Amino acid sequence: MKLFDPDKPFYKGNLHTHTTNSDGKLSPDEVTGRYQEAEYDFLVLTDHWKRTVETPHFYRNMLLLPGIELDYNLTDEVIHIVGVNVDESILTRADRRHTARRGIRDIRRAGGRAILAHPAWSLNTLETIRELDGIVAAEIYNSVSGLPWNGDRADAMILLDIAASHGLLLNTVASDDSHFYTGEDRTSFTMIQADELSAEGVCKALDTGAFYASRGPRFEQIEIENGEIHVTCSPVSKIVFHSNLFYSRYRCACGEGLTEASYRINAEQMERFVRVILIDENGLRAWSNPIDTRAL
Ligand SMILES: [Zn+2]
Ligand SMILES: [Zn+2]
Repeated sequence: MKLFDPDKPFYKGNLHTHTTNSDGKLSPDEVTGRYQEAEYDFLVLTDHWKRTVETPHFYRNMLLLPGIELDYNLTDEVIHIVGVNVDESILTRADRRHTARRGIRDIRRAGGRAILAHPAWSLNTLETIRELDGIVAAEIYNSVSGLPWNGDRADAMILLDIAASHGLLLNTVASDDSHFYTGEDRTSFTMIQADELSAEGVCKALDTGAFYASRGPRFEQIEIENGEIHVTCSPVSKIVFHSNLFYSRYRCACGEGLTEASYRINAEQMERFVRVILIDENGLRAWSNPIDTRAL
């Protein structure tokens, strides 16, 4: 079984971006130009409680999608939900006084897809994440939650590994959450596979898990056959296979210019999921969605 369709192209995009329409430092036009120049295929403008893009359209060759970020403050944590490709009804449906669960429903009713933003920065607990029915993904990396912008909780992998170990296998994206445009923008991205670059194509990919998160390295293919996972990728220095097992002997492949690695699933030890992580020579990572080994 191949996780990626060999006949479909990958499209690079950022699903979480702010402009001066909320608390971002650059105007929507400046932000759009910046990502287009960096050869992104799609961009979602997700201002807080605002819908900055009216309708899906192309700016030059880059697809711009309407989005929104809904944020809810609880006592010991916050819950931020990004809505991708929402229609204008989100503005009348969503309300700060509602729950995040309701916000996710509102995003879906407005035709959008809901993503849990920066769960590590937000100090979300497993119990909180479990309640968020209807999200298509969680941000495994959120650039602006890192140094020097807002502490050092950009990386949510451990939290999402804990969730997956408890049976909550969430697909993952990486997003800039750009606000300042001082280096956090254009660093974390999501690669989606679609028949064509369109709002429908992006949404379908988000629904079906046809994507991976990255800050640099690229997956070529992940193939599962006879209880073995085989990964091919751009040259990296480490390929790691995380799972619910504490110890697994062959989980790390290290070397120079690695472009493939294999991993045998420990079925007899109840290895329930595997997440593949690529790390390049600069320490930049890419993360596969968690592979549900029970479904194989
Ligand atoms: Zn946020
Ligand atoms: Zn944000």
